[in-house]
Amino acid sequence: MGAVHRRTMIAALAAALAAGGCAAPPEGVEGGGALLVLPGPVGGSDEPTEADGYVPVGEGLEVDADVPALTGLDPKLLAAVREAAADALDSGVDVVIVTGGWRSERYQEHLWEEALREHGDEEEARRWVAAPDASSHVHGDAVDIGYTNAADWFSRFGYEYGLCQTYANEMWHYELTVDPGEPCPPPLADASEERGGAPGHKGRGR
Ligand SMILES: [Zn+2]
Repeated sequence: MGAVHRRTMIAALAAALAAGGCAAPPEGVEGGGALLVLPGPVGGSDEPTEADGYVPVGEGLEVDADVPALTGLDPKLLAAVREAAADALDSGVDVVIVTGGWRSERYQEHLWEEALREHGDEEEARRWVAAPDASSHVHGDAVDIGYTNAADWFSRFGYEYGLCQTYANEMWHYELTVDPGEPCPPPLADASEERGGAPGHKGRGR
């Protein structure tokens, strides 16, 4: 995918985001793949920064970037993601980026408030965004992978690195769930669903 094409696509995505502000990828964007999980628009004095793990809208991060969104992750998760990304690139995936990694509670709170505004009520918002105390991103246990081609590769081969898609409605969200090579459990329907175990068990997130 050429740089110009990508810029055009990102501009289109930014326009879609401005219109809807939804975290879900717009439909109908294929080819090199859509940028998945665009963080909502930020504004006000409360704006999340790089230190909060903020990932710039429309950009994403290289998997080897040395920024808090990545260095704040569980080191085992980060190592697995980097290894998988290298193999994905070797296998012909054109680009692998991280669109979300570790986030501060402050940043998650920001996303949660945006989701409440957008979806109107907590029940619906919870399908897309975890409350700050519940997000696996805040605990450093989750990454969001883009573009779609890369996420698709992770959905098929991530288990070889222990990486599993957590939610059926979020093809971009991966956690270190199994021992490498073990099959992944079926994804939960969405972030409002809790896998068995103690409250706060990892697996809730965004
Ligand atoms: Zn996520």
